Amino acid sequence: MAFVLFGSTVAGVTTEIINTGSELLLGRVLNTHQQWICRTLADRGRTVERQVAVTDEPTALVAAVREGLSRADWVIVTGGLGPTCDDRTRDLVAGLLGRRLVHRPEVEVQIRAYFEGRGRPVPARTRVESMVPEGAEVLVNRHGTAPGLALWLEPNPLREGGRASWLVMLPGPPRELRPMFLGEVMPRLEARFPLAEPFACRTLKTTGLGESYMEERLEGPLRGLVEAGMDLGFCARVGEVDVRFVARGPDAAAVVAEAERRTREAAGEHVFGVEDETLELALVEACKVRGLRLALAESCTGGHVANRVTNVPGASAVLHSGWVTYANEAKERELGVPAALLGEHGAVSEPVARAMAEGARRMAGADIAIGITGIAGPSGAVEGKPVGTVFIAVAHAGGTSVARHLNAFDRETFKYVTAQQAMAMALRVVLGVGLVDAGTRS
Ligand code: ATP
Ligand code: MG
Repeated sequence: MAFVLFGSTVAGVTTEIINTGSELLLGRVLNTHQQWICRTLADRGRTVERQVAVTDEPTALVAAVREGLSRADWVIVTGGLGPTCDDRTRDLVAGLLGRRLVHRPEVEVQIRAYFEGRGRPVPARTRVESMVPEGAEVLVNRHGTAPGLALWLEPNPLREGGRASWLVMLPGPPRELRPMFLGEVMPRLEARFPLAEPFACRTLKTTGLGESYMEERLEGPLRGLVEAGMDLGFCARVGEVDVRFVARGPDAAAVVAEAERRTREAAGEHVFGVEDETLELALVEACKVRGLRLALAESCTGGHVANRVTNVPGASAVLHSGWVTYANEAKERELGVPAALLGEHGAVSEPVARAMAEGARRMAGADIAIGITGIAGPSGAVEGKPVGTVFIAVAHAGGTSVARHLNAFDRETFKYVTAQQAMAMALRVVLGVGLVDAGTRS
């Protein structure tokens, strides 16, 4: 099952997004605004009907805004508010709507303060950013200079019958757009177009069970809630499956909470977090609250687990050390893996993974250690061990568990998936929920 779009029940606000910027159409910049804005709105019970990306070329931009405003209640335009010659949104929109650009001294004061706060002179060009289409509301930019602009068009000259539309223009850089959207746009949106009824959603992050198995597992427990109108969606990611519940109406929050409870009851050993939480965060947090130290012995993942674990703020309280032991000699010397073991079973084997994890645990004096050895490919397959074969061991006070997986992907995906499996396995050991069958699918 895919994610369900749940547009029709919203208060009938039609929304369109226009992302401007030639770099988007040259493939130089990924259009993350499209995803981020849609997701931010969806999490708050709102949908976007249409999205288009256009170059900075004036006729393309004007045509897109004209079209959007001829249809939608809310049109969001991103990019092109800066001070350079390719930043044309402000001028073109003013021209399209027949509005003059007027100087807004308070914007100039903000821009001046922005530069002065950084000890830099104010570039003359930034003055254009304080020129605003007449009647526009200014949205404060706390992370840059170009303000956002909002125009309530009532009547809207481009729409049949002059029906009103709200035009919101936002700066291109994500670190400026995102806080502005949350802090300046959302409150205005909620005041202008309140939701017709309460809305609640929840995403549970799971690992270790493919999406169809997960669906099978949850079918029975969640049937009643789905039949009563709750939306249930699964989204398979690499080594993870998101399970998402969406409900509307007076009981929305209670319905979603009940769905979460039932899911945890039916598949709790696979749930590692909620919303945007990552496996590495879950692992670090679980170790931290138990005062456990972690060590890593990686071969084929090349430090990928260490990289992800250290992306978590506060990882230093948990991670003791990590080795990347690629060569047999390094496995012997750094981790004390016996040469005989390597000789007899080969570097990619259950005993070696076990010896790597136990060696790392011993050397670091850690509580938990992960050992990973595998064949990333494309070459290196041996009899009985095809490309993608990987052994993951987790050593802890109670012993050492080893799992075997077949991750036949490109090298980067191989590393990512293997790291997912290793962290999920370590997490289960830390949480004491035991090992689930190693049949992780991505
Ligand atoms: P600036 O003052 O930085 O020029 P601006 O409002 O004029 O801001 P743009 O010039 O359109 O915005 O874009 C600035 C930068 O923001 C782009 O080079 C790009 O890196 C990023 N950006 C713009 N649009 C998007 C988008 N849709 N998705 C992701 N990044 C974007
Ligand atoms: Mg620009």
